[in-house]
Amino acid sequence: MAAPVEAPRADGSAPIATVSMASEAPGAAFAALGLATPLVRALVKEGYERPTPIQSQSIPEALSGRDLLGCAQTGTGKTAAFVLPILQRLSKTQRHGGIRALVLTPTRELAAQIGERITAYGRHLGLRHVVIYGGVGQRPQEENLAKGPDLLVATPGRLLDLMQQGFVRLDRVEVFVLDEADRMLDMGFIHDVRRVVAALPKQKQTLFFSATMPREIAALADNILVDPARVSVTPARAAADTIEQSIFFVEKADKRALLERLLRTSSIERALVFTRTKHGANRISEQLVRAGIEALAIHGNKSQGARERALDRFRRGVTPVLVATDIAARGIDVEGVSHVINYDLPNVPESYVHRIGRTGRAGATGSAISFCDREERALLSDIEKLLRRRIPVAEGQAPPVEETPAPRAAARPASRLEPRRAAAPEQQRPRGPRPPRPPRGRRS
Ligand code: AMP
Repeated sequence: MAAPVEAPRADGSAPIATVSMASEAPGAAFAALGLATPLVRALVKEGYERPTPIQSQSIPEALSGRDLLGCAQTGTGKTAAFVLPILQRLSKTQRHGGIRALVLTPTRELAAQIGERITAYGRHLGLRHVVIYGGVGQRPQEENLAKGPDLLVATPGRLLDLMQQGFVRLDRVEVFVLDEADRMLDMGFIHDVRRVVAALPKQKQTLFFSATMPREIAALADNILVDPARVSVTPARAAADTIEQSIFFVEKADKRALLERLLRTSSIERALVFTRTKHGANRISEQLVRAGIEALAIHGNKSQGARERALDRFRRGVTPVLVATDIAARGIDVEGVSHVINYDLPNVPESYVHRIGRTGRAGATGSAISFCDREERALLSDIEKLLRRRIPVAEGQAPPVEETPAPRAAARPASRLEPRRAAAPEQQRPRGPRPPRPPRGRRS
């Protein structure tokens, strides 16, 4: 590195705020976190200029060898927050032929993305890693495992299968990462996670990441972490800053027409449309296709192959609209999503933040448009409480006037599409009895 860099602080906090950007050499802000030159060079090659908040909080702590409890969702740069310290540690300790680091992650997509990040960040280190997941043949994974990887990235089910068959031993793991712990719970993998944890050595460093902390996840963290450093990035605020959010008040029966209209008339390059159910995702994508708009659905009932094909087409821009459920979409890292459209509001307010985080990634701007029908008003109010702000009502995308006769009101006769006219703030959000809240439940 050409420029002098500041060493990590004794308390582990990141000194990047004090580094002058003007005179700084490329990657200096990463070196200042304590990362070694080969990693910094790889980050510069990736075009990263400075650490994201989760990285500047986590990396010094993880490098110090402490356990870590990180509250952060995908899209915040959390993969690098755990991959970089692991790579640094493994490059400095002796290879022994066994697996030295295990990253457990809930989905094949995430596993593949983490593997791809390890390749990118570790390009100058010569460490070996293997990625294993279900839904594909086991044989190539067995063969790769036989080569003695330093690092293993795995989904829980396939990992347990391979462990039971004697292809994987975890008794020499030095660092364990549990990624997206809350999603493991959502997907019913928590029991498998406990079985994997039981096979790990007692003495190890654990980096535990979860976007939310439901009770079971907090209990699991309590159980496996020893005096962890706690780091958290508030996704709500991050989302509010970079993503333009708006809401349409619309009758349920009019949502479809509104979606078609938006997709046809707005400058939407690549849109991720969220529905609450798998059935809804299928139905909407079929309706869009019938209306002449290229769209595909992605959800847990689709085969792995179908999901990957849909994602690939979406990534390449062949299919500009992907209709997804929360679980299927969380963790998908697609650049250039110009719009997130919440066809249904999610039952869990945090999911709203996860959803809109699919756009406006890594500093890019994005738009999040939500549809809210009469029954969803309580959900909207929960979301706004979490965001600590009101979502502006859509303007400029209003459908023709004859279809939009009514101002925003909680209890009034059935309306058609309902964007805002220039109403005073107090008219925009009438107070009154809250409509019944739909049950909270599984999201996909
Ligand atoms: P993640 O939350 O780990 O899925 O990362 C989200 C996206 O941000 C990925 O496309 C990363 O390549 C990118 N990314 C991670 N860290 C940085 C950084 N410091 N600067 C710019 N982009 C980053």
